[in-house]
Amino acid sequence: MLTKIDHIGIAVHSIAQARLFYEQALGLVCEKEEEVVSQKVKTAFYALGDVHIELLEPTDETSAIAKFLAKNGEGIHHLAYRTDDIEGQLSTAAESGCKLIHEVPISGAGGKQVAFLHPKSSHGVLTEFCSKL
Ligand code: ZN
Repeated sequence: MLTKIDHIGIAVHSIAQARLFYEQALGLVCEKEEEVVSQKVKTAFYALGDVHIELLEPTDETSAIAKFLAKNGEGIHHLAYRTDDIEGQLSTAAESGCKLIHEVPISGAGGKQVAFLHPKSSHGVLTEFCSKL
């Protein structure tokens, strides 16, 4: 079952640049920066209540985030739902005819298990399921 919105992923060219906006204009405090080597991204997390903003900067031209930036420019990249049963959630989505990007969960930032649904199946919103930890 989905339990909450976990985070909103935002693609940026440079976390160092974007941090100025989030920290100076919005007054948020960066919780942590982390590189996720498997996904070729650097991330920075801001807590807002129990929802996070996740900034994503590509570390390589072949990164999905680099491709997103080339096509769309900076902006909202994905919406992540927390689930207490990521495999079950993926099965339910697949059985309902939804196209999956990940058939099985992969390791995401913070050691969470994550999996993405294809945006063509989710009305243009790249949708992530993520485990608690
Ligand atoms: Zn995410």
